[in-house]
Amino acid sequence: MPLSPLTSDKSVDELAQSFGPLSLEERLQILSESVSGRAVFTTSFGMEDQAITHAIFSHKIPIDIVTLDTGRLFAETYDLWAETQTRYGQTIKAFYPDTATVEELVHANGINAFYESVAARKACCHVRKVEPLARALAGASLWVTGIRADQNSARQAMAFVEADTDRGLYKANPLLDWDQAPLDRYIAEHKIPVNRLHAQGFPSIGCQPCTRAIQPGEHPRAGRWWWENEAGQAGDECGLHVGPDGRLVRTKPQPAAAQTPFETSGALVD
Ligand code: SF4
Repeated sequence: MPLSPLTSDKSVDELAQSFGPLSLEERLQILSESVSGRAVFTTSFGMEDQAITHAIFSHKIPIDIVTLDTGRLFAETYDLWAETQTRYGQTIKAFYPDTATVEELVHANGINAFYESVAARKACCHVRKVEPLARALAGASLWVTGIRADQNSARQAMAFVEADTDRGLYKANPLLDWDQAPLDRYIAEHKIPVNRLHAQGFPSIGCQPCTRAIQPGEHPRAGRWWWENEAGQAGDECGLHVGPDGRLVRTKPQPAAAQTPFETSGALVD
């Protein structure tokens, strides 16, 4: 899908390469000024997302903040969503699964079919996340995510800014080079509200049935779709950052091994 050119005189690569010394706020401001159309940030209320939400709302950066309500989120996530809107006096726009499609899925497969097979889990993620995401991003020129490179090997291959030709937009990951330490500092410095489940062993939080607490020393995303990991079935992506061909959406050339099609799908922007 063709992309509109950036409004700055920089190429996508030049823009991405300029991000290193910049603050989060500077990165977001430059991103919003670099496209002529609508900019969208998708939050799932993780710590990275809360930091970006703080930067956007506090500095009135013209980027729409949206979320995908799968209908299966933790009560604590809904509480944080409400608290965040109250704190900043701004609205986070929600996108929902298509009602008739959810009804068909549940009638056909059952309410918790995602535990039964990777295919059933991918079907649920597609209905509850991937399709609503497509509507959330429809007509947008820029998609901002809270992805960090240290979250898994696939994400290490991403860039600060990429051309997502499948969706016809630019995709930006302004926290790509942050790890937990600077994120914790930013959250503490600005007293940003976070999900209280983080203090109960949930570093990464998605849908309630598909997320569990991790043990000390486990990978932060080990609690996501854990039954598939135990069965050696799959990784930890949801399809939101995966193109129609099943490959991770990216523009930079990657080694062949890193381009193996994903067998799973499942989290929002994280
Ligand atoms: Fe369904 Fe689980 Fe995917 Fe949520 S994470 S959409 S409940 S399979």
